[in-house]
Amino acid sequence: MAMKITEDCVHCGACVTECPNEAISADDSLGRHVIDPEKCTECVGFYDTIKCQEVCPSESCVPDPDRQETEAVLIARARKLHPNKDFGENFPSRFRR
Ligand code: SF4
Repeated sequence: MAMKITEDCVHCGACVTECPNEAISADDSLGRHVIDPEKCTECVGFYDTIKCQEVCPSESCVPDPDRQETEAVLIARARKLHPNKDFGENFPSRFRR
């Protein structure tokens, strides 16, 4: 399930540098940050926690119920986004905590 950012976002940008997939950008027209669901892996492959959610001061990074995805789908996305990285089979994942 990709994450999304709600209207509670205070546009601070704390999440941007935490994302391993460069999935988060500022949308000045909305006055908040947004997550590209085609780049979000719920941090699977990099961390066993969800980084944007951890650092967000306004608790506005939340799971998108309309984009429920399995670990297999998410690690496949990570591999596609980072073709030169060897994730192996013991990659960090919130599904394995
Ligand atoms: Fe990026 Fe991880 Fe947040 Fe997805 S859950 S937007 S990969 S920091």
